[in-house]
Amino acid sequence: MLAKTLSRCLYPVWCSVCGTYLALTEDHVCRECFLEFHELRAPICSRCSDEMPPYGEGPGLVCPRCKKRRFAFDEVFSVYRYDDALRRALHEIKFHRKSWLLETFEKKIARIFEEKTWKNPPSLILPVPLDPLRKKERTFNQSRLIARTVSKQLDIPVQEGILTRKHAKNPQSFLSRKERFMNLEGSFRITNAGAVRGKWILLVDDVVTTGATAQECAKIIKEAGARGVSVFSLARTPSPS
Ligand SMILES: [Zn+2]
Ligand SMILES: [Zn+2]
Repeated sequence: MLAKTLSRCLYPVWCSVCGTYLALTEDHVCRECFLEFHELRAPICSRCSDEMPPYGEGPGLVCPRCKKRRFAFDEVFSVYRYDDALRRALHEIKFHRKSWLLETFEKKIARIFEEKTWKNPPSLILPVPLDPLRKKERTFNQSRLIARTVSKQLDIPVQEGILTRKHAKNPQSFLSRKERFMNLEGSFRITNAGAVRGKWILLVDDVVTTGATAQECAKIIKEAGARGVSVFSLARTPSPS
């Protein structure tokens, strides 16, 4: 502790989200900002992980959107609601190369997987690849970092390069829900079908928004012969009601 006190006096450390100086007991993110990371609150859709209005309870609950539409993935589960503090934290990881900031979420990710009961346990993790153009702007893929954390927790391998992506015409963030699904069609490819054939795959992404990315990835993973696809994301954007 003395060494940490001295180090903090000489080299003050500030919160990566709000910029205030950190107390000795805090690492990377201050307590106030940490409390702003909101975990998803039940009831949660068992297919797409969207938070639902407080009616009905229990596992197997499905939101109205999932009742209407059949997705290629079998389930999504996420930890946090994608709101302001989390958006800023992920932005720092993505664009300012603060990969160590992910440590803030490791305990929570570990707990989620400890509590998870699998109907179909996955045997291989695939991170969602970055759009090649965005890859040029950054040095690493945050989904890959999350995938590695999950891999340690589950003790199953993560393989990169099997699921690849080509540049989509338009950035997803400017498109409507429907356009997001169309924009990604044909963007992903499996380079080695033998690696996924017969397996249950855990696809890992940083944020699930409309589910368009997960849908397109799951579709081609299943076309390559996978038995099923579960999706894990650190955060979930609430769907507009
Ligand atoms: Zn803060
Ligand atoms: Zn749903």
